[in-house]
Amino acid sequence: MSALIDTHVNSEPFPKPEIISVLLPIHSSRFFSYKTTIPVRIGNCVKVPFGSKVLWGMVWELGAPLVPNLKEVIEVYSQWIGSPGFIAFLRQCSDYTLIPLGSVLRMVFPVPEILEWPSTVLQCTPSFSNTLRECPWPGTFAQWVFAYGLRRVHTWINNAHLSCKEMSTQSFFCSTPFLTDHQEASLGHIGSSTTFIEGITGAGKTEVCLAYMKDVLDAGKQVLILVPEISLCQQWIQRVQQYYSGPIGIWHSGLSSKARKFHGWNILTGYASVIIGARSAVMLGYSNLGMIAVDEEHDGSYKQAEGPPYHGRDMAVSRGYKESIPCLLMSATPSLESYWNIQHNRYSHVILSQRYGNAQLPKIHLLDIKQEKVSSKNLLTLPLREALQQNLIKQEQSLLFINRRGYGNLWICYQCGFRASCGSCSIWLSVHYLPHPILICHYCGFKMPLPKRCPQCLGEKSLRIWGAGVEKVNQEVQSFLPQARTCILSSDVCSNSKLLQTTLEEIQNQQYDILIGTQLVAKGHHFPNLTLVGIVDGDFALSHLDLRSGERLYQVLCQVVGRAGRGDIPGNAYIQTSQLQHPLFQYLERHHIQGFLQEELDTRKKYHFPPYVRLAALTVSGIDENSVHQYSLLLKQHFPQNTSVEILGPAPSPINPLRRRWRWRLFVKSPKNYRLQDYIRNTLNTFTVPSWLRLHTDMDPYDF
Ligand code: ADP
Ligand code: ZN
Repeated sequence: MSALIDTHVNSEPFPKPEIISVLLPIHSSRFFSYKTTIPVRIGNCVKVPFGSKVLWGMVWELGAPLVPNLKEVIEVYSQWIGSPGFIAFLRQCSDYTLIPLGSVLRMVFPVPEILEWPSTVLQCTPSFSNTLRECPWPGTFAQWVFAYGLRRVHTWINNAHLSCKEMSTQSFFCSTPFLTDHQEASLGHIGSSTTFIEGITGAGKTEVCLAYMKDVLDAGKQVLILVPEISLCQQWIQRVQQYYSGPIGIWHSGLSSKARKFHGWNILTGYASVIIGARSAVMLGYSNLGMIAVDEEHDGSYKQAEGPPYHGRDMAVSRGYKESIPCLLMSATPSLESYWNIQHNRYSHVILSQRYGNAQLPKIHLLDIKQEKVSSKNLLTLPLREALQQNLIKQEQSLLFINRRGYGNLWICYQCGFRASCGSCSIWLSVHYLPHPILICHYCGFKMPLPKRCPQCLGEKSLRIWGAGVEKVNQEVQSFLPQARTCILSSDVCSNSKLLQTTLEEIQNQQYDILIGTQLVAKGHHFPNLTLVGIVDGDFALSHLDLRSGERLYQVLCQVVGRAGRGDIPGNAYIQTSQLQHPLFQYLERHHIQGFLQEELDTRKKYHFPPYVRLAALTVSGIDENSVHQYSLLLKQHFPQNTSVEILGPAPSPINPLRRRWRWRLFVKSPKNYRLQDYIRNTLNTFTVPSWLRLHTDMDPYDF
């Protein structure tokens, strides 16, 4: 048999060159033809010459038409191949988001960087590369070299202390989650495509997901878990490790380049079976992906705002369909988009309605800040102060939430009216005292030292700070509860994930009594001894004109309130607001998420906004305000009349300019069943913006 194969191969010593179409990771949707004498298949990664450079690309089609003077493929990477489902996903992603196919490919992987990694690390000697070739788990070598260094592993192999078998993986499950009857029942309702697991914080969504993963892993497939924020990776790793001792892949923008290659290799070769990552992990190549879970699916961080605009959750759903694998969306506060999909039976729906064990939902108290006389000197109402004091006596932890970093949001001179503002953005500078006194722009990050006197009138005594952030709340707490150990949790104070991790551990170890935090604390963290939550400014988002502000506020408040009483002690939540009668607070008080979502949906329906219509935002931006405005008007006129399409704007973006750039935005709207993407693509194909302007197209914009 083997002889036959050999003859077959030998009978064609000079294979006829084949012409192939290759997709390159460049900002374009074009394919490029190459010839190759090395056999390739669709989905193979290849190294090709491109102009004066050498690029990698993906083989998209075989038997492309013959063109004279074709350049030749330099190398074919055999370690990994894109599956038909994955290729269909890439195509769908580009079609839907209007991101050029080449740019989509660029998000997949720095493929050669990763595929060439072991050889660069291992500096292959002949004996070493032979072993590498025989090993069913080449990633294992990488793992060992990473952990012990090349020289030691090399010696081990040469001394034959180590055989390939020893280095391959076994079954890594140490135990299985023991589910409650209710959880077990919901596990049975998880469907083969998209399933929404809805459940209040602490109901056991994570536990159900872990139980579901087991079968996927037992079948030898990979599991991808998406989290909205890097800081949540660690928590998921710990949860997964309760049951699973195998290698875990990690993928997010905070990885060092060494770690990127290491994890990238493990993910690509299938050595890592569980991968925990931020949204970009949804675009990676996997060796054998078996399911995707999206934690906190409602979270706005899944939408990539800078760079190619895509929504991590939507891509996960789409990838699930294309690769025929299940996708689990999890949240206590479903996004309106998902809620709409649930109502239209597009997703299977599983509800966990009770907290696990004895944990109860916190009782919510609404406090009217008009009656309770809140001022910039007294941010906390009397009932909230008393509750904090009581909690301190009981030695239970409290959390105060205010969604503003720093001390105050405006530095103003009462004598001449001077206000410190950012030179690049139309925004006042915020005052920060920690880690050192500074004025900072929360949009572009511009910083300057805090002046001692007014730069305009030189007055020294007339300077005031307006508004309040975490630092000011901290100051107030320390003034009336000097014995309390307080801790600020904001991105300024916990500036990197290590620092944040340490602080979170200190909180778990009861080293603090009162936490004062921004949005950073709202997400997924579990503090068993935390029983009191205070929302200092419950109104913060209601004044925005944005149609999504209500939804966002509800989600944040629900998350923050959900931090209370996750252990055995019931919790309390105090919300300070000036709009006691606002439906949002009424629903929140009754923990009536469905009621709230329905009311929001009705508003969206009334004003013809998503999820009832299809919406795209087109933004023209540039340094010169006038040409930005002119071109946005031209763009609007360029769209052909169409009874299915409505075009709104152009209107200036709310913060204009931002980082010195002016932005004008058009909204293009159509019924849901209309191919809006085709209409936009065709229009933009014949519209050119000058090189000094930029045009950004965003399907399903997050802000509208
Ligand atoms: P969610 O993801 O819905 O917020 P979790 O899965 O984190 O909820 O569960 C909340 C807490 O209850 C966690 O500490 C978890 O360990 C515990 N828990 C939930 N279900 C179970 C179970 N079946 N067995 C043991 N502990 C559980
Ligand atoms: Zn700025």
